[in-house]
Amino acid sequence: MRKPIIAGNWKMNKTVQEAHDFVESFKDKIPAANAVDSVICAPAVSLDRLVADAQGSDLKIGAENMHFADSGAFTGEISPVMLEDLGVTYVILGHSERRAMFAETDDTVNQKVLAAFKHQLLPIVCVGETLEEREGGRWQSIVKKQVTKAFKGVKGKDASSIVIAYEPIWAIGTGKSASADDAGEVCHYIRQTLAEIYDPSIAEAVRIQYGGSVNADNIGGFIKQPDIDGALVGGASLNPQSFLELIEEAYNV
Ligand code: PGA
Repeated sequence: MRKPIIAGNWKMNKTVQEAHDFVESFKDKIPAANAVDSVICAPAVSLDRLVADAQGSDLKIGAENMHFADSGAFTGEISPVMLEDLGVTYVILGHSERRAMFAETDDTVNQKVLAAFKHQLLPIVCVGETLEEREGGRWQSIVKKQVTKAFKGVKGKDASSIVIAYEPIWAIGTGKSASADDAGEVCHYIRQTLAEIYDPSIAEAVRIQYGGSVNADNIGGFIKQPDIDGALVGGASLNPQSFLELIEEAYNV
């Protein structure tokens, strides 16, 4: 039985003070971590404060991106060594906004996944097709390529702890989510792909989230799908009350 994981992706939102105030009002209200993993992925400047704030609670903190190198001449980048030093638990890798606007590729995502495991960070790897790819009937080949490349060289024991976020690009920030059935079909296909790369037991262990306009009203439908184990949530994670409602809905399914 896979434990659900609900992760907020704050993107480029909230000052350190705003982030702190959110977590202080939120961390003691979430369901116990043995029932559901609740995660907030925040801008790098807030991570130090949020890791300290979340200590002793069931909330886990994640980063939204990182470089794959330990250190070096990469102006403006954040390294896995730095995230490990802060005590961050998760790191989002390959979000479609980074692929589209910051030249992230399947190859850099793979290097980052390998680097994450060197530094005890758990990757949340984002995959998903564009509207054009979906309408052209190409979502299988796109998603399969993204998953296969992201997991290249990852050992089975590490692979089973990766979280995959299936986020159809056309559903992100648009208020137009995928249907639960369509999302469930893709997540099932992702699990089959993992079984081909590894074996069925590893495929069964990996947690697969749906992301794209998830809110408290539609989360239940996604969670009921047998291959969907949670959600990566943008807009609806920015308000503590709405994010809490969403987590409670997921928990009660
Ligand atoms: P959204 O964003 O929930 O605002 O659609 C999801 C994401 O980008 O992870």
